[in-house]
Amino acid sequence: MQMRTESKRSIVSLFTISLMGITTACSQSPSNQTTTFPTQELGATPSLVASESKKKVVTTFLPMYWFTKAVAGDAANVETLIPPGAEVHEYQATPENVKAISSADMLVKNGLGLEEFLEDTVKNAQNSKLKQIDASKGIQALNQISPVEKAVKEQGHEHEHEHAEGNPHVWIDPILAKQQVTNIRDGLIAVDPANKATYAANAAAYIQELDNLNGEFQQVLQKTPNCTFITFHDAYPYLAKRYNLKQVAVVEIPEDKLAPDDIQKVVNTVKKYKVKTLLGEPGTDNKLLNSLSKDLNLTLQEIDSLESGEQDPQYYFQAMRKNLKTLESACK
Ligand SMILES: [Zn+2]
Repeated sequence: MQMRTESKRSIVSLFTISLMGITTACSQSPSNQTTTFPTQELGATPSLVASESKKKVVTTFLPMYWFTKAVAGDAANVETLIPPGAEVHEYQATPENVKAISSADMLVKNGLGLEEFLEDTVKNAQNSKLKQIDASKGIQALNQISPVEKAVKEQGHEHEHEHAEGNPHVWIDPILAKQQVTNIRDGLIAVDPANKATYAANAAAYIQELDNLNGEFQQVLQKTPNCTFITFHDAYPYLAKRYNLKQVAVVEIPEDKLAPDDIQKVVNTVKKYKVKTLLGEPGTDNKLLNSLSKDLNLTLQEIDSLESGEQDPQYYFQAMRKNLKTLESACK
């Protein structure tokens, strides 16, 4: 389930923060309880007595949290700035985010321009000892807009200059995810060399799982080369390139409601390419997509960009295996 609107996001944030307030309250000394608002407690977690000596690592959103938590295990304290369920692409930082960064040893971001909120937030946190890790370091980015049906008014305008850093959705390719895990591992070791052996072993185990996942994708998708799918979120160009599929994105960033313009783009795309399937996402306007897919005589399925989900690092593999099943049946 993904929540896209501003009001829903606020509710989710408050809910998550409240939970964090409750779980940390019991281990804090009474003198720290200066306020009854649980929202004030986020960022105060370093005062946890038991974890005082551990390094504090903040990550931006779920995939960075999974990869960092998988490498850190229990050797460091890992948090995420964007609560699960909130939308990363248009996220607005909170005062709690500034506080969390101000007391952190390390910050892990996806990079490639995804976390637009981050630069000012880090500046406001004024943390001179903070080590920042760009998990996408060394990854060759693809263009922001994949082979796409653009609306006429978008073509050749300033729109394309806003995203000069390339498409940020690298975590959806298991091989590029390995590079991200490696960058995170190296960052953790640099900040906390005492736990080097733990970080190296944990990273190796997670990378092995990513290799296994890659093998499964290769085995299944080699049967359907050049399978072309339409998405409503330009999130899958790396996955498509890796496994010899073709993504045609008609919408760049997921929307609550598809515009008539988007529908026209789908119709144009279906005429232009040999499209097998429409892939919506949880949270998109599936009623509209349903009737559209019927009109166009295409199947409609859901694919997950992994921008929200559960906090367990293993969730990456669950969601990706579900995506593989989806692609397998969509490309038949
Ligand atoms: Zn996205």
